[in-house]
Amino acid sequence: ATPTAVMVATGVGANNGVLIKGGDALERAQMVKYVIFDKTGTLTQGKATVTTAKAFTGMERGEFLKLVASAEASSEHPLAKAILAYARHFHFFDDSSATTGTENGSKFGWLFDVSDFSALPGRGVQCFLDGKRVLVGNRKLMMENGIDISTEVENFVVELEESAKTGILVAYDDILIGVLGVADPLKREASVVIEGLQKMGVTPVMVTGDNWRTARAVAKEVGIQDVRAEVMPAGKADVVHSFQKDGSIVAMVGDGINDSPALAAADVGMAIGAGTDIAIEAADYVLMRNNLEDVITAIDLSRKTFFRIR
Ligand code: ADP
Ligand code: MG
Repeated sequence: ATPTAVMVATGVGANNGVLIKGGDALERAQMVKYVIFDKTGTLTQGKATVTTAKAFTGMERGEFLKLVASAEASSEHPLAKAILAYARHFHFFDDSSATTGTENGSKFGWLFDVSDFSALPGRGVQCFLDGKRVLVGNRKLMMENGIDISTEVENFVVELEESAKTGILVAYDDILIGVLGVADPLKREASVVIEGLQKMGVTPVMVTGDNWRTARAVAKEVGIQDVRAEVMPAGKADVVHSFQKDGSIVAMVGDGINDSPALAAADVGMAIGAGTDIAIEAADYVLMRNNLEDVITAIDLSRKTFFRIR
């Protein structure tokens, strides 16, 4: 392809909301053999909604939700935002003990004051309330902290996960007190795009920090056979490298901070435009419309531009 052809293709991309950072990235996309998709916020809408909240130890529901929301208040994670929204709604609109609909002036005035908050990537959050530890997150978080998960709780979580939901466990004072279920629907075009890639001879893969059961349920829904789950943030780049081992050209599509090492490691990194700045910086392509169809647009554009010299 001539420099002019590359310039034209870059312009065509830009007109379709596909920003391409340079001619090398444009050229590599035609040879992509695997496209690795992040799950949350990439294949899914990233608009998580709490569908279930169950307290197991007889704690009052409003109290349980307030405790969980207090722990998550400082987290930037989409799951945390979903929990805050749900608990806030319950507190102000459903709970008869709520006295007023205003928030005491401050953003989170209705919540408990927690201390020593820490976000634990790939696991959840930890903080303290009146000297007692609060843990909100996945099984791994509970296991690492020696929290006992009863059969009743485990069965409840399994049921959520088999219906493609993420189960979030809550421990207070080192006792497991409840579980939340969070749903995050697939993007509308996701299945069509996966099918389209397969027809083009490209193999789609899904990688996620979420648990295996939820990951498999989502992958099945979208039509992806190859799934890597329970991958810690640093591990996503290793997944990219594992597909590159035989010399294959690999694309990674992601939106989160935890996707940026993988976006950088991939031969073709594609960031969702609505994603975090760090992901956008690490990528070669930015999909400004946040539409997965543009993964196909990008590969097509490259194939058409470099067709003659193949
Ligand atoms: P993904 O790769 O799907 O974007 P993450 O690496 O961000 O996932 O998180 C992996 C898992 O860690 C989540 O599915 C959840 O179980 C747990 N987790 C992470 N952050 C939080 C949080 N703030 N609250 C509850 N759980 C969390
Ligand atoms: Mg994500």
